[in-house]
Amino acid sequence: MRRKFVAGNWKMHGSFQKNALLLDALKASVAGFACEVVVCPPYPYLAQAQTLLAGSGIGLGAQNVSEFATGAYTGEVSAAMLGELGCQYVLVGHSERRTIYGETDAVVAAKFAAAQANGLVPVLCVGEVLEERQSGKTTEVVSRQLSAVIDLLGVSALINSVVAYEPVWAIGTGVTASPEQAQEVHAAIRAQVAALNASVANGLRVLYGGSVKGQNAAELFAQPDIDGGLIGGAALVASDFLAICQAAG
Ligand code: PEP
Repeated sequence: MRRKFVAGNWKMHGSFQKNALLLDALKASVAGFACEVVVCPPYPYLAQAQTLLAGSGIGLGAQNVSEFATGAYTGEVSAAMLGELGCQYVLVGHSERRTIYGETDAVVAAKFAAAQANGLVPVLCVGEVLEERQSGKTTEVVSRQLSAVIDLLGVSALINSVVAYEPVWAIGTGVTASPEQAQEVHAAIRAQVAALNASVANGLRVLYGGSVKGQNAAELFAQPDIDGGLIGGAALVASDFLAICQAAG
């Protein structure tokens, strides 16, 4: 039985004051949820979140990581550093990293490897842009993005990871994939992994991301291959994020 997982991606939002209010509100309610709850603040707030979340049961993740271990990489943050800040998770390959910062499948796979090599659980984000969906290429694109990791590390690397299917056209747009559209892709992701290793596929948590709100979360999470959500905008408002966690159980 896969435990549901809800992660909040704060993107480049927050301040010390806002973060403290948000995390206090989450901490006050999270004990009642059966799902795993994780927040991913921007780098400068990870230490604050680590302190505030101590003993809360809420996990901590980062939004990005360097593919390199150490060295002359100005502006980058290594997986080992994230581990020292108390992170258990890190997003890799978010569509904003792929499209705005040009991260290729190979770079994303290298980041995935760097995260795991340092004891972090990578949350691998995959998803198609609107033109790809409209031209019937959704499964091909998602499969290629997933294959980049499997080809580099082998299918068993997925044991200590989470996959997030995020159709790019649904991120921050208010347009959500229908539960059926999302389920179709989630099932395809699981089938791709199952073709290599059924037990890895069975244990793999595949999240949906893209305009998840309290109102649509329950229907999405009720789909057999949707194991929770990666939440952007709604993760910044305690009542909205908590409603989503509640929908996940
Ligand atoms: C995201 O950025 O990963 C995301 C899903 O954003 P939103 O929930 O705002 O669509």
